[in-house]
Amino acid sequence: RHCMGSSIAHWAAETPDNIAIDDPDGLVSYAELDKRVTEYAQAFSGAGLSRGDRICWLGKNSGLYFTLFAAATRAGMVIAPIGWRLAAPEVAYVLKDTRAPLLICEPEFAETAKKAVEEAPDTRTIICTKTGTDLPDLADFVASTTPGDLPECDPAEGVLQLYTSGTTGNPKGAVLTSNNLFQLRPLIEDRPEFAWTNLKPGDSTLAVMPCAHIAGSGIGPIAFYNGATMMVIPEFHPDHVLDCIDKGLNQFFLVPTALQMLVNWPRAKDTDFSSVRAVTYGAAPIPLELLRQCIQTMPQALFCQQYGMTETTGTVCILPPEDHDPNGNERMRGIGIPLPGVELKIVDEKRQEVPPGTIGEIATRSGLNMLHYYDNPEKTAETVDADGWLYTGDAAVMDEDGYFYIKDRVKDMIISGGENVYPAEVENAIFGHPQVNEVAVIGIPDAKWGEAVKAVVSPKPGVTEIDTDSIIAWAKERIAGFKVPKTVDVIADLPRNASGKILRRELRAPYWEGND
Ligand code: ATP
Ligand code: MG
Repeated sequence: RHCMGSSIAHWAAETPDNIAIDDPDGLVSYAELDKRVTEYAQAFSGAGLSRGDRICWLGKNSGLYFTLFAAATRAGMVIAPIGWRLAAPEVAYVLKDTRAPLLICEPEFAETAKKAVEEAPDTRTIICTKTGTDLPDLADFVASTTPGDLPECDPAEGVLQLYTSGTTGNPKGAVLTSNNLFQLRPLIEDRPEFAWTNLKPGDSTLAVMPCAHIAGSGIGPIAFYNGATMMVIPEFHPDHVLDCIDKGLNQFFLVPTALQMLVNWPRAKDTDFSSVRAVTYGAAPIPLELLRQCIQTMPQALFCQQYGMTETTGTVCILPPEDHDPNGNERMRGIGIPLPGVELKIVDEKRQEVPPGTIGEIATRSGLNMLHYYDNPEKTAETVDADGWLYTGDAAVMDEDGYFYIKDRVKDMIISGGENVYPAEVENAIFGHPQVNEVAVIGIPDAKWGEAVKAVVSPKPGVTEIDTDSIIAWAKERIAGFKVPKTVDVIADLPRNASGKILRRELRAPYWEGND
């Protein structure tokens, strides 16, 4: 079960009638999935694509996407999903970066796909998943292609190329291998403390975060390795998640903003959450208040926080269920401890390890580290050193017990009057304010302080005017004076990218124009 194809084939033999995929198009058994994966793989290979070619996907989450992902792997090719919220020039950036000969799109993105391909000369073919556009469709493509040969899977080869979220700059194409996707599974398979992620045949999990991110695409390999059912939601909406819970969903991952919407959704009050055995969350800091609310909504569930990045195949560090407490505790402010087989350390600017209690950058080394950034040896060498340590760009501190606490992105640190301020801590302090829905903290140029701390907040539904002085007073009661925002801006909604991360650089930009 060391590759997507062999995992699916394994369960097609063991439990052929078990459901592999449950999405709006219907149910697909493991036997049927194995058949489809082989058919698509033979079509890719017969259509003149070569080993290692990139196949781009422009669409929402679907069972078909995960089928094509497995098929590309089976054919020795690499799937590269593109965020469907992106505009044509951004799609073209990914097409050009991957040099994909083939782009597969959903009908609603056909126009964007066509426009993007005009600027991407290597992309020779666009196929649409369904009929009804002027593009050739997938069924015809398969029917008109003579099936080609399939190679042996080499688990050290790239299978998934994911672009980083672009929170701090241009997205980078991280190449992940089958080894990356599967290496953790045998290490934790029989360990009860990993019940929050170990699934059995008949169990269900959820693919709901966008497939262009590891939190979306990473669900398929886990479900298929375990022979479990993957429910697939095209796009996050609280109702859709609650529908899956009504169907008996056992486990899901959501980013904090999505969790916040879920537990506050009116229907959540009448939902029976008892089927949910595990809730995992991460990708951005979670306010402690919100976490406590989630635990109160689903008291029977194991909660596990995940920390990681695209470049580390997602999770490398977890706050395990036993460190979660409905009343809150200090450890719930952190990201916990490394997964089995993962090394984590904190380093200074010279990349020298620092003792517990000292803030520095997190570096990590394990079989989860990406192969490389595609076609970008300079950026790869900047990020991963000769000994295999990958530098995350996240500032954090480790305590005496080996628990890690994220401060913030190294790049987002504010230096105000010579003191370091980590925006996340200030945001966390402001989050509980009764008028505040969302908050982002940035540094703006300031003649006296160098940088001054500014909070940008959005109002809770129903709040017409935010009392900004009361926010400053609220923060003063909770954090040191030098961290308290000097000013507060109010806007309707904070800018976020598709992975639910606040784009502080967008909020910061107008203040730094001509100044940076
Ligand atoms: P880019 O690298 O293009 O700027 P990005 O870093 O946001 O974008 P991702 O790989 O999707 O792209 O996100 C990884 C980052 O998400 C981590 O480096 C960290 O800053 C943040 N993150 C992940 N998990 C957590 C967590 N549990 N708590 C706080 N922050 C987290
Ligand atoms: Mg990053």
